[in-house]
Amino acid sequence: MISYINIHTHKPEYQNIELIDLATGIIWDLRWTYSFGLHPWNIETSDIDSDLDKIEKLIEEKKIVAIGEAGIDRVIQTNIDLQKQVFMEQVSISEQFKIPIIIHCVKAWADLSEIRKQTKAKTPWIYHGFTGNLHTAQQIRLDGNYLSFGKALLLNPKVQDVFASFPIEKIFLETDDSDEKIETIYEKASELRGISLVELKESIYSNYITLFGKSHIIIDS
Ligand SMILES: [Zn+2]
Repeated sequence: MISYINIHTHKPEYQNIELIDLATGIIWDLRWTYSFGLHPWNIETSDIDSDLDKIEKLIEEKKIVAIGEAGIDRVIQTNIDLQKQVFMEQVSISEQFKIPIIIHCVKAWADLSEIRKQTKAKTPWIYHGFTGNLHTAQQIRLDGNYLSFGKALLLNPKVQDVFASFPIEKIFLETDDSDEKIETIYEKASELRGISLVELKESIYSNYITLFGKSHIIIDS
């Protein structure tokens, strides 16, 4: 049976296929897949150079399959130029190693799209926890990127509409830091798309393979 894919979580359940954020408190283990990045919220308290080195080292050691979360947040106080600079450093690592980025974006769609063009980045980005409008979603698709939907899919009609009309080959689902089960998000998602749960799982699994190959263990579930 095809596994559920949880493309971004801070609360791993260690079942299905989960892309676990290797943030503080999460211990790396050979059996699971991880991302690591310099989150905009952590820029001011981080040793930036050492975190960027750590990302490269983790990639070289094959301990992560994605960079992230990384991105831009226009609601926090951290200097926007510094945020852009730190993000662009991570874009450059992403391009060098052809490793996707899990994007944290708050009121910064235009900034990120501009950086994608400016850097001529080709490796896909996954905008996680998407809650934007259809216009933004279309822009992200035109940039060649993916959207991941989380618990907002359960309650927010605007997000549900975007989800229902977005190309399925560019979609992922996630739990992020919520206590929702990935199975609950998939159930709602299949209802919104009007397709069976099996079809949905197959589509998202195939999206995962396109981006990450078989860099995970197969779990019978
Ligand atoms: Zn997160």
